[in-house]
Amino acid sequence: MSFTSLGLAPSLINAVAEIGYQEPTAIQRAAIPAILRGEDVLGAAQTGSGKTAAFALPLLQSLLDNRSGPRQLHGLVLVPTRELAAQVGESIRKLAQHLPMQVKVSIVFGGVSINPQMMALRGGADIVVATPGRLLDLLDHNALKISRTAMLVLDEADRLLDLGFSEELARILELLPKQRQNLFFSATFPPEVQALADGMLHQPARIEVLSEPVSKPDIAQRAILVDAPRRTQLLKHLIVEHKWPRVLVFVATKYAAEHVADKLQRNGIRAAAFHGEFSQGARTEVLADFKASRLQVLVATDVAARGIDIARLPAVVNYDLPRSAVDYTHRIGRTGRAGESGVAVSFVSADTEAHFRLIENRNDILLPREQVEGFEPKETAPVVAPASVTDTINGGIKGKRKSKKDKLREAAARAAE
Ligand code: AMP
Repeated sequence: MSFTSLGLAPSLINAVAEIGYQEPTAIQRAAIPAILRGEDVLGAAQTGSGKTAAFALPLLQSLLDNRSGPRQLHGLVLVPTRELAAQVGESIRKLAQHLPMQVKVSIVFGGVSINPQMMALRGGADIVVATPGRLLDLLDHNALKISRTAMLVLDEADRLLDLGFSEELARILELLPKQRQNLFFSATFPPEVQALADGMLHQPARIEVLSEPVSKPDIAQRAILVDAPRRTQLLKHLIVEHKWPRVLVFVATKYAAEHVADKLQRNGIRAAAFHGEFSQGARTEVLADFKASRLQVLVATDVAARGIDIARLPAVVNYDLPRSAVDYTHRIGRTGRAGESGVAVSFVSADTEAHFRLIENRNDILLPREQVEGFEPKETAPVVAPASVTDTINGGIKGKRKSKKDKLREAAARAAE
């Protein structure tokens, strides 16, 4: 199937061709015709599926078909993070570049001064890509009106709720017109996300393409056993040994980010912490340094790293393990992007072995436990029966019920008693 057969205007097809997309991805094939028919859409899709163009192309088409008279907001795209706002906004601008009219796409997010954004919104905008908090601030300042928005897109709805935006979303929904088209995208559907979708969508076309990324990442996953206190030294050893030009290291807390980055610096490695309490200026600067290879190592928390897109990251290290199996997938997805190969290393210690085993179970993987010479662990993981492992650890895994395998294992353990 080609883009031409989806019912898009020639100016959009030209833009797609110029960007270099040969054929539509699964979500684009399914979502574009449904959106063009005016239906609400519930899309289960991850980053990498091509979901941005899946909503941006029909959004632009609808703008093209409907714009007359003075400019008024046609599409509102809500996203969880500043970085995603910038990425999505830029994608829409690129796709709009051959349209026969000037399309104004405004990108607004918090953490920076509101005044330039208010100035930029003067004269209105056709499409606004926003994080919810800043959008509300702008509405409070009368910097824009959303009461006649024709299309609303919620992108990464699960992340929006994870980041605590549910109240802001409710307020925004109140201010939108009742008559509008809703496009709802999320990678996962825990009950609160489902409830939000149910409350917003009207007989939506359901589209699910969780298993088809545009380019299957080529990620070598490794698990290295190491005692917790020796992780920083092992990290340094791996960075030097593998000569990774850039590494994203995940830690659990802001304190750990500062601490590990500081230790690496003292060992002569260009490292910086990256956590949620940075100002927007500091974030931008650190990211720019990392992208330009002035920094070799970024030691980040999950929240800070969410939504950042850094091309060709050769390595990701789980210094602290992620809380959930889904977070594991998100983290390792930072490497091996766009057809490049990458390595994802997880540090596993006696204390975290059972937790890692559970992450493996959930993701249907089983990695050999490696040891690195000079860093062999002295502590060993306690031997626990599989049933009690799942019992004790299950509570620590966010938003996941016991899998069928876990239940079978428990039943088997009970039968053996
Ligand atoms: P997304 O899931 O929207 O974040 O897109 C993931 C990546 O796939 C982005 O780099 C897009 O530029 C790219 N992409 C989107 N649609 C296509 C397509 N039809 N063919 C090839 N690449 C695409």
